[in-house]
Amino acid sequence: MEAPNNSDVSTDDPKPQVIYRCKKCRRIVASAEQVVPHEPGEGQKCFKWKKRSDNPYKESPQCSSIFVEPMKWMEVVEEGSVEDKIQCLGCKARLGYFNWAGMQCNCGAWINPAFQLHKSRLDEGHL
Ligand SMILES: [Zn+2]
Ligand SMILES: [Zn+2]
Repeated sequence: MEAPNNSDVSTDDPKPQVIYRCKKCRRIVASAEQVVPHEPGEGQKCFKWKKRSDNPYKESPQCSSIFVEPMKWMEVVEEGSVEDKIQCLGCKARLGYFNWAGMQCNCGAWINPAFQLHKSRLDEGHL
């Protein structure tokens, strides 16, 4: 069960095997390998929300979503839509949104194409 993966993307920070489940039905929707990492560095400049940086740990806002590769369970993607909401295949809960033209994360980074899953709809766990 190997998903085609962009293994040429540099992964210099070794992560434990993290998986994401639908919060409602516990179906596994993504694993860490399918997450497309992005650089959150431009957040402050993009949105001028945090002018003060009195706390060095709050420099960049936490991304409220993860961005993943298109996956088979995303039926609307398979159907050929350009953009639509992403629903859980198990319980039809809305998990996120995708747009082949790209979307902006709350940290300010553009992801293109974007398959966004809201962290608040997911349970993060380990295999
Ligand atoms: Zn982000
Ligand atoms: Zn579900």
